Amino acid sequence: MKIALQGLLPEELQALCKEAGQPAFRAKQLWQWLQVQGATRWDQMGNLPRALKDTLAETHTPEPAKIRKESGEPGGTRKWLVGLDDGESIETVLIPARDRNTVCVSTQVGCKMGCAFCASAKCGYARNLAAGEIVAQVQLVAVALGKRPDNVVYMGMGEPFDNYDAVLKSVRILNHPDGLNIGARRITLSTSGVIPGIRRLAGEGIQVELSVSLHAPNPELRRKLMPIENKYPMDDLLRECADYTAKTKRHITFEYTLIQGVNDSLRDAEELAGRLRRFPCRVNLIPLSPVDEFKGDAPSRETMDAFLRALEKRGVEGTLRESKGKGVDAACGQLRRRSQA
Ligand code: SF4
Repeated sequence: MKIALQGLLPEELQALCKEAGQPAFRAKQLWQWLQVQGATRWDQMGNLPRALKDTLAETHTPEPAKIRKESGEPGGTRKWLVGLDDGESIETVLIPARDRNTVCVSTQVGCKMGCAFCASAKCGYARNLAAGEIVAQVQLVAVALGKRPDNVVYMGMGEPFDNYDAVLKSVRILNHPDGLNIGARRITLSTSGVIPGIRRLAGEGIQVELSVSLHAPNPELRRKLMPIENKYPMDDLLRECADYTAKTKRHITFEYTLIQGVNDSLRDAEELAGRLRRFPCRVNLIPLSPVDEFKGDAPSRETMDAFLRALEKRGVEGTLRESKGKGVDAACGQLRRRSQA
């Protein structure tokens, strides 16, 4: 596979150009094309010499990701099935909300984590994405929108902390002041609870948002929904989260998918609040998106409101997220899974 140029930092592009016998300003031009203009074809890069393009094209590609299929409506949630250089495919989603556009990127082809209600888990794991394949998803959306997206969330297919180095590199590129310059606080890394990743992130000195998926108020239920509980138990995970908030002075968002009759009772809300009360955090409640492979429904609106109120009564802040994009297979992994069927 050729190396994705979008995954190279300015100094790496400079070294590449130097190796090809070109002056440093060529690297700046190349960076501009890739990270500011969102170019994906050599013929778009009119001010670069043919010799440089020919040399780079032997080992590198400016088009690591191509749109294979699009669903959704302009102005609403849009979802792209994105093809990669080796024939694999991933998903990228655009979620517009009022005055902000949020891109949801994938970090792996498939996922190893096996969460019960996730379509990505059902089609198995193939490989990690390179940093350039993650950046290229945001660039694809920027080109489709005709402007820079406001927020990036790492909540698509894959577990970001299972591909830590590429994910962090992509964050640094998206955040680069000479590139898309997406503020670190507008970038959210979402983990199913990989403790070493949370620990490493706490030491990075980068102000990204961290979100951790719990989906259950206690270890017993969490184990049934998320096999990662066997490797990184909830009590250890929450201890690590408390350390993270103490070290970074930042709060954590906990994701909690509400499933009717499974984890949506008032007792569940009370138990959850009891565990989370001790450090700065908020809970994002998400109604279950229907997935063919998981029998379950979202609770009624009244049940979800009552759950939220029960959390807040016990001092834990929460929000109830609208389920977006049912019509566009927006639960992660659904579009790719259907494309494989
Ligand atoms: S929910 Fe996320 S971590 Fe869990 S299997 Fe799906 S993609 Fe992986």
